[in-house]
Amino acid sequence: MMKYSNVFEIDGSAGDKYDVLVKSNGKHVCIMCSCPASDYNALCHHIIDVINDNPEVRDLLVESGQWQVYEAYLAKLDEAKKIKREAAALKKQFTRELVIPPKSWSVEEESE
Ligand SMILES: [Zn+2]
Repeated sequence: MMKYSNVFEIDGSAGDKYDVLVKSNGKHVCIMCSCPASDYNALCHHIIDVINDNPEVRDLLVESGQWQVYEAYLAKLDEAKKIKREAAALKKQFTRELVIPPKSWSVEEESE
C-alpha cells in the first residue's frame, strides 16, 4: 500500500491561491483545501481540479476504491443534467400549449 502526501497550489477564481493537501495511507485518501468552502467539508472545485488534473491522485483514489464513488457521482450528475434538460423542454411545451391560444380560436369566438 502506497503512502502519499502532497500539496497542490491551486488558483482561486478571485486571483487568490489555495493549498490542496492530498494524503493517502494506501487504504484511504483524504483531500483538504484551504479555501473557505472547505470549512464546511464541501467538495470545492479546487479539489475537483486536483483530482482531474493529476493522474497520480486519480491512481490513489482507484487504489483506495474511492474512485468508483466519484465515477458513480459523475454519472448521476450527467443523468441529472439530462433529466433537467428534458424537464425544461416539457415545461416549455406545456407552457406554450397553455398560454398561447390556437389560431383556430378566432377573435369572434372570444367575443361570443
Ligand atoms: Zn477549495
